[in-house]
Amino acid sequence: MAESHDMLTRRTLVTGLGLAAAGCSQAPTDRPAPASTAERFTWRMVTTWPPNFPGLGTGANTLARYLEAISGGRLSVQVYAAGELIPAFEVFDAVSSGAAELGHGGAYYWRGKSEAVQFFSTVPFGLNTHEMNAWLYYGGGMELWREVYAPFNLIPFAAGNSGVQMGGWFNRPIERVEDLRGLRMRVQGLGGEVLRRAGGTPVALPGAELFTALQTGSIDATEWVGPYNDVAFGLHRAARFYYYPGWHEPGPTMECMVNRDAYERLPADLRAALGVACQAANLDMTAEFNARNAGALEQLREDPDVEIRAFPEAVLAELRSLTREAIEDLAARDTLAAKVWASYHSFLAQSRPWQLVSERAQTRASAL
Ligand code: CA
Repeated sequence: MAESHDMLTRRTLVTGLGLAAAGCSQAPTDRPAPASTAERFTWRMVTTWPPNFPGLGTGANTLARYLEAISGGRLSVQVYAAGELIPAFEVFDAVSSGAAELGHGGAYYWRGKSEAVQFFSTVPFGLNTHEMNAWLYYGGGMELWREVYAPFNLIPFAAGNSGVQMGGWFNRPIERVEDLRGLRMRVQGLGGEVLRRAGGTPVALPGAELFTALQTGSIDATEWVGPYNDVAFGLHRAARFYYYPGWHEPGPTMECMVNRDAYERLPADLRAALGVACQAANLDMTAEFNARNAGALEQLREDPDVEIRAFPEAVLAELRSLTREAIEDLAARDTLAAKVWASYHSFLAQSRPWQLVSERAQTRASAL
């Protein structure tokens, strides 16, 4: 991305205002912000989530509430669930065209626009939640994300993270890699591609159809999110075996995308408010999922009809190897994906030893 001198100057200024910690240190547009005005803005936020969907949809509502509060009511946002204004998977185009000013979803939904987008949500065996935020805010990830979205007239912000997901619900135990052969499982994106390479059949289904599909046997397994959302859908009534970890979604970032023209009409203080509100929403979602998943897991552990199991290491090792192949094939056919993967991978390589001696070691060691 070519940066003008003006942009670099503004970046320094914004950083000097103490906004670096809010993820706002990279001024994302080339157009100077107008000075603060009394003008009021009423925006629409279209989302990929069912109405008031716990954690993810409510995370969009939280962001809207923050924006309204921080701006003193000068930027009010009406949130629309999937299907209310447009279907879930038209969010990207709607915000790109300006039909809505804001969109809330996950970048991996937009693979059809650019294969590089997947790295900004999650990739199998990749960065965890801590590491995603580290890469995006302090490792160059945010600049790459803006570069990938720029041709679509969109400015992305990280605006939530579910934390590591669960591996999913299975109607039979997975003890060997061979048990994945012929398995019909709802799992999307690169995770689905990895399952395909392992001999399984990835199936694309919207969340609302998972319970019935699993209960009737039209699929053998499904991933969804984690205990909190999975229990809400009743998935524990449709399959017995609940596997961890969610190798396919180690720490998915949720996004708020902004139409560039709308963004450029905002005065400087509301641009800053948008960045700060997104970062606050990012933190809030992870905290909510950690609290509520813990409660729902406790419920599942007491349920005699549920067996919570870890994937065998040999299965994970094979899936890891297939993931590496899938990402390398992706990088070989798409130069922008290759550029993002190079940054992502080098960050992961540097980050992982620190996570092992810090978060993982501490978690294993502490049990008061
Ligand atoms: Ca999922």
